[in-house]
Amino acid sequence: SNEEDASKAAAATADSGAPTIFDKIINKEIPSTIVYEDDKVLAFRDISPQAPVHILVVPKLRDGLTQLGKAEERHVDILGQLLHAAKIVAEKEGILDGFRVVINNGPDACQSVYHLHLHVLGGRQMKWPPG
Ligand code: C5P
Repeated sequence: SNEEDASKAAAATADSGAPTIFDKIINKEIPSTIVYEDDKVLAFRDISPQAPVHILVVPKLRDGLTQLGKAEERHVDILGQLLHAAKIVAEKEGILDGFRVVINNGPDACQSVYHLHLHVLGGRQMKWPPG
């Protein structure tokens, strides 16, 4: 199926450390719908939403955080700030009663963009387990 093909294509994507499309979004070279921004964090709507609310929360400075699996002690503050921003976003979107925060890490998790990002999903009944 198309869904399986897309899933395989995403799974084949590995961490090259190359710049990503998110740099252009962060630098506002390509437009996005920004939901929250501070000096360290940007949150914008996913272009391919998987729920009525689907927002990506990213560190403005990647600093080696291509994926969560590359996290080091120096990233502890930004990791906390990203989670806190996810909560602010959920509050702004009115989904505090039920939302999900997802980090896809690496090929087996279908990570496709190698700039750490939290998915904040909500606005519908979420299912468990995820696919
Ligand atoms: O976790 P994963 O790396 O697969 O997620 C990347 C996400 O970035 C996807 O949900 C995709 O729709 C989104 N994206 C986006 N804008 C782009 C490129 C990708 O919102 N220009």
